[in-house]
Amino acid sequence: MKFPNFEYVKATSLDHLLDLLEAHGDDARILAGGQSLLASLSLRLSSPDKLLDINGLTELSGIERQGKSLEINALTRHVEVLNSPLVAEHIPLLSKTMPYIAHAAVRNRGTIGGSLSLADPSAELPAITTALDATFTLQSKAGSRTVKAREFFLGLFETARQENEVLTKVSIPVQNPKTDLSSFAEISRRKGDFAIAGLAATARIKKGLLNRTPRLTDISLTYFGVGEAPVIARKASELLSQDPSRIDAGVAALNDDLEPSGNLEATPEIKLHLCGVLLRRALADLNAQLAAT
Ligand code: FAD
Repeated sequence: MKFPNFEYVKATSLDHLLDLLEAHGDDARILAGGQSLLASLSLRLSSPDKLLDINGLTELSGIERQGKSLEINALTRHVEVLNSPLVAEHIPLLSKTMPYIAHAAVRNRGTIGGSLSLADPSAELPAITTALDATFTLQSKAGSRTVKAREFFLGLFETARQENEVLTKVSIPVQNPKTDLSSFAEISRRKGDFAIAGLAATARIKKGLLNRTPRLTDISLTYFGVGEAPVIARKASELLSQDPSRIDAGVAALNDDLEPSGNLEATPEIKLHLCGVLLRRALADLNAQLAAT
């Protein structure tokens, strides 16, 4: 199908973009990688009056370490995150996840800011940023504000971003390689498809006293593809943090934590079952990492 009519405007600076957002609000859409937006225009799911192209704004691109965080600017392409030595060193969970996002052609154009702003419940990055307690910076003409990832994703394709704001950067706390472990797993029909269900797990190593062996603690399980936004499975996380060997009980606790709705790919029951499978895989992976320390 053809695109609906719209006016194309190339933002020449961040100030120019903020002026345009202030003037046009919900009648305008920011065009980043275009990998989701252009499809939604073709399908007539969206028909904005204006597309505001931010691809020339180099200040919105790039990754750098700032104190105890890694800052990833919104226009950074998926492929840049995938290949970043800084991300590999400091945020291994993000590095492990990037190959699961779509295919190389999509990763060459798609951006971290576009994925987070879209808030697709089956996308990986909203769950990863939730799991890692990331902070987002949003800017409007009135100034900038920060929002925790855990408060940003409000529902199905719904976020805390106001229509006159642009997401400018994501700050993710750097992980301590001596104490922080992470695991990522998802189930999709074909490699590169959106996940039917996925899990980002984080944990810490608790040192044993005297001769006792170290064990996993502070286990946190963030699921995606099973709700309208990323879901932290709090009961299972708490139970397994107290005793990581109680895997069956952890899987059973998911019945209370998760309420997946079905779709064309899987019924709610199958999704819940897959979440248990993912939990077992993640714990096996975390235990293997622990054993290797
Ligand atoms: P765009 O399409 O340009 O924009 C998306 C939305 O975000 C628009 O509403 C836009 O206005 C808004 N927006 C963009 N940037 C900003 C900003 N800085 N501030 C505020 N609003 C902004 N994604 C996955 O996570 N997992 C997958 O497995 C996956 N598979 C895919 C397979 C295919 C075939 C395709 C085409 C896409 C797939 N995607 C997948 C989506 C892909 O990751 C997109 O790159 C991403 O969803 C949107 O990023 P974008 O930069 O292309 O954003």
